[in-house]
Amino acid sequence: MNNNKHAAMMEKKQELMQLRRDAGSVASHFPEVANIVMRMTYNQRGAKSILRTFHFTPGSYAFFIVNCLRQDCIDGGFDLTQIITTMVRNRRMEGKGSLSCTGTDSSTNHSDIVYEVAIQYI
Ligand SMILES: [Zn+2]
Repeated sequence: MNNNKHAAMMEKKQELMQLRRDAGSVASHFPEVANIVMRMTYNQRGAKSILRTFHFTPGSYAFFIVNCLRQDCIDGGFDLTQIITTMVRNRRMEGKGSLSCTGTDSSTNHSDIVYEVAIQYI
């Protein structure tokens, strides 16, 4: 990995951390939500599937973008913000589907997730 690419990745990481801090709490966005569990199977081409689970409580950051685990993927990731917002609006407790990484590195379709979201309401 060359230095420019590394610098770009670090910048991206910091940007994500800032976005996360700016997102505000789950409680401030969705006061009716008691907790959110996102379970996903992460599939990367040429690698073993990885099961990833994310728990959100009212005090968590309302930040639902999951990073891509591919090392040289810079602008990738999986954004579940819209999915979760729609679920809460419709007071749905379960949702599932799949997303492909939006990254623009050399190999397209290098990773995807199959997710299940469970939301409990107060
Ligand atoms: Zn990616």
